[in-house]
Amino acid sequence: MAKVVVIGAGFAGHTTALYLADRLKKKHEVVVVSNRDVFSYLPSWVWVGVGHMKPEKTIFKVKPVYDRKGIKFVHAAVREIHPDAGEQFILADEVGSGKETRIDYDYVVVAPGPFLNFAATPGLGPEKGFTNSICSLPHAVTTRDNYLALCERMKKGENVKIVIGTGHPGATCQGAAFEYIVNVHKDLVKRGLRDKADILWLSNEPELGDLGVNGVQIKRNGHTMVSEEFIKSVFNDHGIRYQIQSGVTKVEEGKIHWQNYEGDEGTTDFDFAMLIPAFKGQPFKYVNKEGEDITAKLNNPGGFFLVDGKYGLPYPELAQTPEAWPSKYQNPTYPNMFAAGIAFAPPGPISKPFTNKNGLLIAPAPPRTGMISGAIGRVVAMNVADLIEKGEITHGERMTEMVAACIASMGDSLWDGNAVTIVMRPVVPDRKKYNNPYGRDLFVSHLEMGLSGAWMKYMLHYTFMWKFKGKFGWKLIPE
Ligand SMILES: Cc1cc2nc3c(=O)[nH]c(=O)nc-3n(C[C@H](O)[C@H](O)[C@H](O)COP(=O)(O)OP(=O)(O)OC[C@H]3O[C@@H](n4cnc5c(N)ncnc54)[C@H](O)[C@@H]3O)c2cc1C
Repeated sequence: MAKVVVIGAGFAGHTTALYLADRLKKKHEVVVVSNRDVFSYLPSWVWVGVGHMKPEKTIFKVKPVYDRKGIKFVHAAVREIHPDAGEQFILADEVGSGKETRIDYDYVVVAPGPFLNFAATPGLGPEKGFTNSICSLPHAVTTRDNYLALCERMKKGENVKIVIGTGHPGATCQGAAFEYIVNVHKDLVKRGLRDKADILWLSNEPELGDLGVNGVQIKRNGHTMVSEEFIKSVFNDHGIRYQIQSGVTKVEEGKIHWQNYEGDEGTTDFDFAMLIPAFKGQPFKYVNKEGEDITAKLNNPGGFFLVDGKYGLPYPELAQTPEAWPSKYQNPTYPNMFAAGIAFAPPGPISKPFTNKNGLLIAPAPPRTGMISGAIGRVVAMNVADLIEKGEITHGERMTEMVAACIASMGDSLWDGNAVTIVMRPVVPDRKKYNNPYGRDLFVSHLEMGLSGAWMKYMLHYTFMWKFKGKFGWKLIPE
């Protein structure tokens, strides 16, 4: 009987565990170790952050689901991984007691999501800084409270400055920030306060609408449309100002410091800011059987777990090499170790990076969205099951082959809400397969805005909660 340990119960880890349990049918042991005992549906935190959804609606306890599926749950924070043959184990601290627990494994899937690296930007973040975040549930709740307090000030007649976007030159997750800015706009319109707020989009994107994926492009009736035009018209229509090609370097109370592509240094004042931090890998320590720290051999410099990608290619070459993206998510040194979701090390950026004359690299990191994290979780589950059952991996899927779909909320009302429906194939351009400058299938790719998107976004929340609870037919709902 083999024992598979999955670290993390998020989009990637939870999906991996559900598929593993389904395929291995209790003939082998599946264990999930997570520092939180709930699954979190992060996409709905944009609504928590404006007070439109109760926080508890975005989470559910994982243990009852795992009990039903025959998965063992350990509520503990992983600290160390010992990967050498003969003594493969994880050391974790039990949540509550703090007691160290040792979990042996035959296969391990590293899926602990991102470490929110607020410290990379002095003054950033809700704990030690001056800005808000919607990247964790407690952060989204604090952001909501701060936002509602801001609304009270506006009601009393105060004019305020709101800044939303990325808080580091290398930050990702622009999509979540975009959803938040348009939801704030919509909420202020409803409250009759919109004229009291100056709203600015401040981001590290090379072009508006880049979203860290080199934009979205579609072709209909012979006309090619790009997300830049689309987002520009949304922002112009909503009266949202924008500043792109800018990396935030420091935040002080009420003041954001940034540098742009030209190397200019400037500041922007704010009363309320929600800026996405840089992400890094969770700080696990990897130790060999001699007791030496081998973390640097298993992680890239950002702390993300190395898998079967081709690392180190310069961007122009990487952009022409779809096969540089991993397909199996398997570590080359330790074939029984896999990574899924944000935790795996991508071979480089998807969007074009830029270094300004001061040497500051302004480059959105590649997003591994919920859908992609789930899809990779499924691929990893099949790979591990293949290894257990057949002794070899028969499947693989690169991000240059995956379709990404996203519905970006622009107001949650089912009467006058709005959302952009985005589909792109593939999520990472494949310029060998698709003979156009974007490396995408322009016919399948899709970009559309309307009320129906708001309905779909709402339905997605409940559909995915159903799926992630592993209820009847969960496998029929795609990641
Ligand atoms: C506000 C917001 C909105 C978003 N909207 C969308 C959207 O509309 N569509 C979309 O596709 N994507 C969206 N995303 C992105 C999506 O949520 C992430 O891509 C996805 O959550 C990544 O999955 P993951 O499993 O890698 O990480 P996570 O979902 O963060 O899961 C990580 C898991 O690891 C656990 N963990 C962490 N540290 C440890 C440790 N030391 N030991 C044990 N366990 C640990 C965590 O508790 C958690 O269970 C959004 C993100 C945000 C922040």
